[in-house]
Parts: sequence; C-alpha cells; structure tokens
Amino acid sequence: HIAFDVDQVRRHFPILNREVKGKPLVYFDNAATTQKPVEVIDALTSYYQYFNANIHRGIHSLAEEATAAYEATRDTVQQFINAKQREEIIFTRGVTESINLVAYTWARTNLKAGDEIIISGMEHHSNIVPWQLITEMTGATLKVIPVDDNGELLMDEFHKLLTEKVKLVSVVHASNSLGTINPVKEIIDAAHKVGAIVMLDGAQSTVHLDIDVQELDCDFFAISSHKVYGPTGIGVLYGKRALLEAMPPFMGGGEMIKDVTFEKTTWNELPYKFEAGTPNIADTVALKAAIDFVQRIGKKQIRMHEEQLLQYATEELQSINGIRLIGTAKQKVSVASFVVEGVHPQDLGILLDNQGVAVRTGHHCTQPLMNRFDIPGTTRASFAMYNTKDEIDVMIAGLHKAIKLLR
Ligand code: PMP
Repeated sequence: HIAFDVDQVRRHFPILNREVKGKPLVYFDNAATTQKPVEVIDALTSYYQYFNANIHRGIHSLAEEATAAYEATRDTVQQFINAKQREEIIFTRGVTESINLVAYTWARTNLKAGDEIIISGMEHHSNIVPWQLITEMTGATLKVIPVDDNGELLMDEFHKLLTEKVKLVSVVHASNSLGTINPVKEIIDAAHKVGAIVMLDGAQSTVHLDIDVQELDCDFFAISSHKVYGPTGIGVLYGKRALLEAMPPFMGGGEMIKDVTFEKTTWNELPYKFEAGTPNIADTVALKAAIDFVQRIGKKQIRMHEEQLLQYATEELQSINGIRLIGTAKQKVSVASFVVEGVHPQDLGILLDNQGVAVRTGHHCTQPLMNRFDIPGTTRASFAMYNTKDEIDVMIAGLHKAIKLLR
C-alpha cells in the first residue's frame, strides 16, 4: 500500500468540496452513511451510459456485460469477507433486509414454542423488531444480553443465558451508537457449543474491521453497502451454504425459480433462490467500485487513521466541561457519542450544522440502549477515512460556542 495521505484520499470525494451554511462541510455522520468516492459515482453513471440491461436471461451483448459486472461484485464481496463460496453471497437491500431474510426463512421455519433467541441490549431496531415479529409467529422467546456502564456486553450474563433452549444468537458486531466492538468470536464459539447458530449485524464493522467470516465461523453476516462508501439500496447477506440450502425462499417471483407449473414450483440454485425479481443492478455494480477503493487505500491504514481521530476527539471532548461520553469500551470503532449536561442533543445538532458540521442526534435507532443509559439520545460524531484533526477542531470550537449559547 501507498502511505496514507488524507489530503489525497479527500480528493476522491467530490462532496467534500461543498459548503454548508457558508462554511466548509465537516461530515461526521459516517455511521449513518458514508460519502461516495468518484469511483463509485462513475461506476453508477457508466453502468447506465454503456451497459444497462436486465441480467441473467439475456443473450445479447449488453445483457452479458451487465450480468458479468453484477456477478463480479459477488466475487469481490466473497473475497472481501473471505467467504468460502460465491454462492454464499446473497444480494439484499441492506442490513435490514438481510436480517429479515433470515428471520422469515430460517427462524420462521426452525423455531417453536420453548426455543429462545438471544440478542443484545445495544441492538439497532433492525436487529430487534424482526425477531419480535418472529417470536409472535413461532412462540419462541427473546432474551437480551445486558450492557454495562462502559457500553460493553456483560459476557457473564450472556453465558448464563446460553442454554440448550437457545437456537439463534443475533448480535451487532460494532455498535452504531457507542462504537463498542463486541467479543463476537467468544459469542460464536459458545453459541455453537449449545447448538445455536449466530448472525452478526456487520453494518458498522465491515467498513472499519477486517472481516473473515470463515475465521469468525459466524453462520450469517449482514452488510450495508452505503456504510462502506458504496451506494444505498444494496446490501449483502452472507450465509453458510448448508443453512442457505436448507432454508425456504424469502420472496417468490422471477429468477428465484427453476421450474414453475400451477401444481408445483421448484427453486433455483444458490444464490439465485434468494434473489427474486430484477435486482438492484446498478448499485450492485457500483458496490464493487467501493470495495476495490477501500482495498486500494487499505483497511489497516484506514483503521489506523480513524483510531487517531477517535483518540483525539475523545480527549478533546472530555476536556469540555459538562460533557459525558456515552460508550467508553476498550475496543471501539470511530464513533464518539456524548451528552452535554443541560443541553438537548437536537439543539446542539442545529447549532453545529450552522458551523457546517454534520453530526447525528437522537436515539440512533437504539431506543432500548438509550433507556439503559437513562437518556433520550446522544450527539454522535462518527469518523471516516477522509476526516481530519482540523475538522475535529472545528467541531470542538463549534461545541464551545453552542454550549455557551444554550446554557
Ligand atoms: N444495524 C446497525 C448497527 C446500523 O448502524 C444500521 C444502519 N443505521 C442498520 C443495522 C440498518 O442498516 P440499513 O438501514 O442499511 O438496512
């Protein structure tokens, strides 16, 4: 890899040149969605300009080119997360759909009254609600691993919850609200010992950490393209082949079938069994450009840069009177969440926006976690490869200004 140069990196992201409220944009809402490099934007436009066609069934040249590009992304994703086989990579709309796919196929058909699902106290709503819907249908029950004051999972409690009744454990790899990186290897190994399978919500981890699904030995892993510098509307479900083979389809329609008669329909082979209808071809094609870009810069280099930013931001935030960090785990991705005594996060967000600084405020789709900390929400700054220390200084100055005004 070439030496990491943040100025060079920034040149790939055209949006970083714009201003907000007359100030240079400081984009610290990367946990919600990352900005897109010109490589991804070009991949989208060139798909529509040069080889837009429906895939898989065409014999004309455009259809062949579009199919090749779509399937090339599958190979890239397979290599990116080190899946054993390309058939284990299913394209979905994002993490939400990936989790729902597993809920409505695997869980719906395998769970019954008396079975248990374990999730954690720091889950995104998308890793809570699907399981609640499935427990209502199946009679299974939901158990929750509690979270301590630092925002770490209470692993002793997890091991106590883990009995033979547990059939599925679904946890977030890295928390979007706190940044906590969970001890997923320990969770997976322990769950497998009681015969439970494990799903990981990789929405936040995929962009920051090296992902090796074979080494992790997770059974399902969910990815959102738009949090890995790729387009919105496309995501991935990784699943172990044996599980995917045994699962019924999710949605019915074209492409997912082998033969259709009014009497009986047979399913297509993997991965197509789970990709009903015309997929999101353009965004899938562009996801490859995003992954190629991340790999060219180098995940290790990106992580080192982001760790420096997180450390600097943490120190600077802690030096502000009345600020309390929410999420002080030992292992974190670059998310700094905080509350300010006597100040509503939303007011803070508005005043920071006036300085050109984009942060997220609120519950971050993790209401139960906010309840755990007895707060309505936080202000969250989350950092990406293109952020700088200077930008953190702008935010800190903006915070001082805002706090003076609001107190
Ligand atoms: N889980 C986590 C931890 C997330 O941060 C998000 C996105 N905010 C999701 C799930 C849902 O992802 P998506 O909206 O892309 O489906």
